[in-house]
Amino acid sequence: MEIDKDKEEVKKIREWMNTEEYKELNFKRNAIVINPERACQPLGAVLCAAGFEDTMPFVHGSHGCVAYYRNNLSRHFREPMNAVSTSLTEDGAVFGGQANGFEGFKNALALYKPKMFAISTTCMSEVIGDDLGQIVTNAREKGFLPENILAPYANTPSFIGSHLEGYDNMLAAIIETLGIKTENFNDTINIIFGFDTTIGNIYEIKRLLKIMGAQYLVLSDYSNALDSPLNGEYKFYNEKLTKLDDTKASVNNKASIALQKFSTKKTLSVLADKFHQTVKTLRSPVGIKYTDEFLMMVSELTGKTITKEIENERGRAVDSMTDAQQYIHGKKFAIFGDPDMLTGLTSYLLEMGGIPKYVLCSNGNEEFKKDIEALFIEYSVTEGEVYINKDLWHLRSLVMTNPVDMLIGPSHGKFLAKDAKIPHVRMGYPIFDRVNIHRYPYYGYNGVINLTTWIVNKFMDILDDTCDDAHFELLR
Ligand code: SF4
Repeated sequence: MEIDKDKEEVKKIREWMNTEEYKELNFKRNAIVINPERACQPLGAVLCAAGFEDTMPFVHGSHGCVAYYRNNLSRHFREPMNAVSTSLTEDGAVFGGQANGFEGFKNALALYKPKMFAISTTCMSEVIGDDLGQIVTNAREKGFLPENILAPYANTPSFIGSHLEGYDNMLAAIIETLGIKTENFNDTINIIFGFDTTIGNIYEIKRLLKIMGAQYLVLSDYSNALDSPLNGEYKFYNEKLTKLDDTKASVNNKASIALQKFSTKKTLSVLADKFHQTVKTLRSPVGIKYTDEFLMMVSELTGKTITKEIENERGRAVDSMTDAQQYIHGKKFAIFGDPDMLTGLTSYLLEMGGIPKYVLCSNGNEEFKKDIEALFIEYSVTEGEVYINKDLWHLRSLVMTNPVDMLIGPSHGKFLAKDAKIPHVRMGYPIFDRVNIHRYPYYGYNGVINLTTWIVNKFMDILDDTCDDAHFELLR
């Protein structure tokens, strides 16, 4: 009898959680966050470091934090992820972590023999105020860190920013430490992807640059480390990552193009201010318009033409959109994830006549919000709503009170998609519950075809699964 009463009460509360009244209370919440779509700064720093030749990501902090980054990144890529920690514990917190740093350099050098340590910090080392520069200098003086081992370091306090700033801080530190300015200017352009865990995007952009005949250098190219072939040969440090000598010379290249705006600001300012390089920030090349912008920028900087082959690819992508437009037009979407992916995805959905009803970014800022609102105005969409610094529990309230047709974003959204009984297309970081998504690009014209395929076929599967016999059609 008591159990029945409890069940009734739970049911009542569950139903109340889907009401406008609950949504209002939920949006007044400011003491806690529930399921924010963001990771902490050092995770981004570790990913960035993984793209450089013979480099060991070296995190000054507790090993529990490092276990989290390794585990999180490994689950997404389904590949091993290297990183070491200085294993700070209570005594380090009281007396400072320098001794752990010395020990860490000594052990990691003996075991893993890197050419470079890419050093970042965690909450703990930031709170106790350890001076990374001092630790590196003292380690060199005392012989724990030989002069020939490169050691760029970045402060990556986890209580501000997110994995995006962590990536940016680490890349800026690597370029600032390694870059050697000379008068040897050349026609190579640097491509900076930013925090992008879709390896397919990296392959796609490199493929397009190759077709155009453009000389390029990817700064932090982890594609071969985090999508390494299974051929029976294990390599602790993968080949074909960004070479350290190329990184040193990268500051003399003709220009740098960043394909994300919110995880590359510091890096670009180092290249522009310290090395006087031409730098360009583009919207991530998602959808037709932003891919056009990318290719035209490459053409302008390198003098290379956009070939007929690429023009044909564009034509095929436009054809695929035209074939499928009727299935997306007028449909409402809730999308969430990192800001640059969301800007690109919003633009693509608008190109398809879709309505990005809710655009929610836990690590977005006012600049991002303005970018999305400008897109709504450009496409005369009046129903779109953009939320920054909100979490997935907020998004749940939104879709439960005013439903949408589809959710697009990383795996963490699956719980709210289930509650709201809407389909969920996986995109972004992290994706833990689907395979191979990160191997398919959403950048470029092929990315347009992939996005259209994922979204439209999901709608069609649902139609087939839920329609009655009379409407179970061969033609859709
Ligand atoms: S937020 Fe702080 S404590 Fe948590 S994993 Fe990141 S660095 Fe460690």
